[in-house]
Amino acid sequence: MAELASLLCEHFSTPVPRYYSGPPVDPPSRLVYLLDHEYTPRALTWSRLKGDDARRVSLMRDAADKAGCAAILALADVQETHGAYPADEVYGYRRRGWHDDYDQYDDDDDCSATSDDEREYEIQDLINSEITLTHWTGPDGTRLEETSLSVHEAEVSASTPSGDLKPYSQQYEGYMGNWGNTLDRWYHRAAVVIWPREQAFANRAETSPAWALDELAATASSGDVPGARAAAATLAPFWNAALRDQAAQAGGKAAGLLSKALRVADTVADAPAAAMLLRPFRVGNLTYAQVKPFAKLAGRHGQQWTAELLRTWFGGDQPTWAYGGGREIPQWTADWLPGLCERLPATGSTGTAAAQRLLDLAWEWIGKDIRSALALSPPSYRDRQLSDLGKPLAAVLMAAASIGGASTRDAVTAYVRQQDDAATVLEMSALRATAKTRTDDAHGEAGLDVLAGDCAARLRARLARPKRDAGDWSIELPAGGCACGLCGTLRTFLTDRNRRAFEWPLAKVGRQHVHSRIDSAELPVTHVTRRQGRPYVLVLEKTDWALHPRAGGAGYGRNGSDVARGRVEDGAGNRLRSLGSSADCPQVPAAAFCSHRPGAVGCFVEQRQSID
Ligand SMILES: [Zn+2]
Repeated sequence: MAELASLLCEHFSTPVPRYYSGPPVDPPSRLVYLLDHEYTPRALTWSRLKGDDARRVSLMRDAADKAGCAAILALADVQETHGAYPADEVYGYRRRGWHDDYDQYDDDDDCSATSDDEREYEIQDLINSEITLTHWTGPDGTRLEETSLSVHEAEVSASTPSGDLKPYSQQYEGYMGNWGNTLDRWYHRAAVVIWPREQAFANRAETSPAWALDELAATASSGDVPGARAAAATLAPFWNAALRDQAAQAGGKAAGLLSKALRVADTVADAPAAAMLLRPFRVGNLTYAQVKPFAKLAGRHGQQWTAELLRTWFGGDQPTWAYGGGREIPQWTADWLPGLCERLPATGSTGTAAAQRLLDLAWEWIGKDIRSALALSPPSYRDRQLSDLGKPLAAVLMAAASIGGASTRDAVTAYVRQQDDAATVLEMSALRATAKTRTDDAHGEAGLDVLAGDCAARLRARLARPKRDAGDWSIELPAGGCACGLCGTLRTFLTDRNRRAFEWPLAKVGRQHVHSRIDSAELPVTHVTRRQGRPYVLVLEKTDWALHPRAGGAGYGRNGSDVARGRVEDGAGNRLRSLGSSADCPQVPAAAFCSHRPGAVGCFVEQRQSID
């Protein structure tokens, strides 16, 4: 027994070696000792353990006590993957599996998972083993409660290997090319979990951050602030990983968790501990409910602490794709930023500084999104992305107006005005997003009147361009992109005022290149392959209805502009068809929108009949 106790002490003080190079990581924070018999959650109690389990567990408990550890009971789900071949088959593909519910087996040893037709397998090396604790005794030591904790191999021991027990389910995967010839087997095993007494809180907190925050708050409010602070410090090694997934659920639930974390961060009253507790969250979790506690913390720990935390909440140095697929922050900006920037300054000067910081970070993100959207092709895709950014852009401007951030406002409007005419879609979308809710004065303060003026000027310039003559078939190939000989031939045909069709004998690779060039620029040209002769003939034809529409539409201008092509979309996805008639948006003078949905008219190139 003394020997067992000293082994326990050794286990909890030996750093775990890594598979690869590098220093060993921290010592294990728990020991999971797997028992041999199966138990239902209801039947798992210290007094009802069976056979060898009872004897071994009694020893373990005494040793744990001696070593300053606590022992609890748990249920584990074990999955083992072995390399395997069916014994009656040298090579082949078969797949089978069967599962029993927990409810179906009872307390005796006779596990019902096997069946008559169970196949024999030639079992080879263990490839992988995963152990998850599904239930354990609660903090009061009696009731078994649900949990979900995946345990590391270095934290597990057993007197009997799982392979010697009867699986409750198994599934064979035949050879599948890159993988296969594997046998997965699942086992239910009871376990004794031992951890040093001072690690008890951390062990439970890892699977239930909300519970941990409630516990810390309760400890602090009972007057034991140093105790709460010490317990909070034990969360550091895993807190980020434990909370990351929950914080990724923007709004609702995660916002509630953030409220709890802000409350605890306030009571521990220590800048590094508060930052550690709050770092796993995202700006998408920040709503009006957190304004007061957040401003209080910002006031206590100062501007630099706040700035660093907010930078982390905006993803820090993580790539955009790792952060909500890049959609989370524009959505949060549109929904919450203006209101937060209105409420935060009311809490005092640190609130104002925090609001300015939020605004700067949001604009950094949205500005970057606008820049990448402008570079997209084909044009219809670019316009959709820009249209989606109108609301967040308007939100940034309104937030700037709320905190009197004239320099941010001017920087934002100047940035948008510098962009080429593709930005018209963005401007119209931003103006439409705010048309109904803001007064003229507010528009002025937010710089929306500047955007409206710029937008109108761009539209007027387009209208001033000469109308296409009846006999003019010229189309401009947008600059940039490929400059190869094929593209040169294409350009010559396109820009010719008089040529309407072109039959071009061209090998497959060349045809594909021309197809993709026309598609990515969404030119009003059909491109069909006629499968006759060698090489086949690529038939190009400029479309009459797009270049010379009979009524209403402005058609595809000689300049290739979006509006003339009938392609500009407003925020609601309506197509801008004609200019100079009744305006339904006061901010976009001389612009009218038809009710066509995009897709009803469709992309010009959809007329194409075949591609190869
Ligand atoms: Zn080319």
